[in-house]
Amino acid sequence: MTQPPERMCPSTTAANATVFLGMITPAGRVAYVTPPMPAEVALATADAASGPVESRYRLAGPCVTSRCGFWTGDHCGLGERLVASYAETTGEPKTNLPHCAIRRSCRWYAEQGPAACTPCSHVTTDAR
Ligand code: SF4
Repeated sequence: MTQPPERMCPSTTAANATVFLGMITPAGRVAYVTPPMPAEVALATADAASGPVESRYRLAGPCVTSRCGFWTGDHCGLGERLVASYAETTGEPKTNLPHCAIRRSCRWYAEQGPAACTPCSHVTTDAR
């Protein structure tokens, strides 16, 4: 039997990160980086004195499913909630997908489709 593809969490902590997705701009948007950059490379240059790195970097890592509080049992509740709330508040067209390094393995994209990508660009990971 073939194994399902490993999904990536597009908003993870530095401790679980394997890919650097991008920088958070002063406007609170993600400036995505392609091709993929290993998280360890980006984290090696992070200034620890500037507070939690998750407030400045968006990081991706393996989805931990049931070990995450957002896991519903069969999908990511955070991705679902983001898409629903973004559609309610903006109705912004779901086009112009950002150039993102993990689209083929992204948990949110796999479950929510292109609608995940615009709200994704507004997310800052809560590292608490
Ligand atoms: S939701 Fe879209 S933009 Fe965000 S990490 Fe996944 S594929 Fe990339």
